Amino acid sequence: MFQFHSNASEAALNSSGHGPQKPTESAPNGERDNSPEHLVLGVRSPGSSSGPADSGVVEDEGYELILWNSPAGAPSQRPTRDMLADLQEKEKTPKRLRLLLVGKSGSGKSATGNSILGREAFESKLSARPVTMTFQHGCRDWDGKELEVTDTPDILSSRVSREGATQGPWAAIACCTPGPHAVLLVTQLGRFTKEDQEVVRHLQKVFGVGILAHTVLVFTREEDLEGGSLDEYLRDTDNQELADLDVVCARRHCGFNNRADGAGKEAQLTELMETIQVILWEHEGRPYSKEA
Ligand code: GDP
Ligand code: MG
Repeated sequence: MFQFHSNASEAALNSSGHGPQKPTESAPNGERDNSPEHLVLGVRSPGSSSGPADSGVVEDEGYELILWNSPAGAPSQRPTRDMLADLQEKEKTPKRLRLLLVGKSGSGKSATGNSILGREAFESKLSARPVTMTFQHGCRDWDGKELEVTDTPDILSSRVSREGATQGPWAAIACCTPGPHAVLLVTQLGRFTKEDQEVVRHLQKVFGVGILAHTVLVFTREEDLEGGSLDEYLRDTDNQELADLDVVCARRHCGFNNRADGAGKEAQLTELMETIQVILWEHEGRPYSKEA
């Protein structure tokens, strides 16, 4: 069962209950009140309602996420100018960024990878059977950095384990050594189902619970919003699991219309990269590693 500790959601909401607090311009000057050190990720043991875990293993029943002593509330998803300057000044921006696409089959991982790369690097099509069967990489230069995008088969759903995939979930770690800077959890807008929840649970099981501190929720088919705001959609959704996940991911989310024209795709990438900059700032440019 996929569950969040209710305190996490409550603590991460601001006093009005309508979302995370906005970034403050002064926060990055050496103060790390919003840093992920305050995110304590733990295992929910049956019958217990709180308390950090003493092991990083996720049990099948679920997990809890506890936000500790974070006076400013949830970390923000938008970078401030101070954050970016701070990172650049400390020369902590890595030159090569590893981005790992995960999500259930048909969610739009390969299409999103292509939008990021600006070319048709990965096969993407509507199919009743999974199309992407192996790990694939594509690279591009972007704003002085090299983006290494890894597209994955559907490695994180139990359907795949049952069908005996040639590359199991553990291959995801090996293919992204020494760890992704950001995980792009791809889900189709309006279709966040039990299967997506299972992907999240398996993602934590394979990589460790802290992986969500490096995760951006990417919603494909953004055009279905017809000009509406993704922020509002997520704030108003009655899909509680999705709302909770968005809060736990500190509202790092982006919309992608993978059928947009070239300029539209570049604008979407710019927005995604701004969100990833926040992750880099919070982790001083370090990729995710299970030990961390
Ligand atoms: P994957 O299995 O997660 O890699 O999914 P694919 O990238 O193969 O996409 C599955 C289908 O969804 C394909 O037909 C894509 O063209 C379609 N698709 C992906 N993203 C979008 C999007 O943003 N808008 C629309 N309209 N279709 C999309
Ligand atoms: Mg694919």
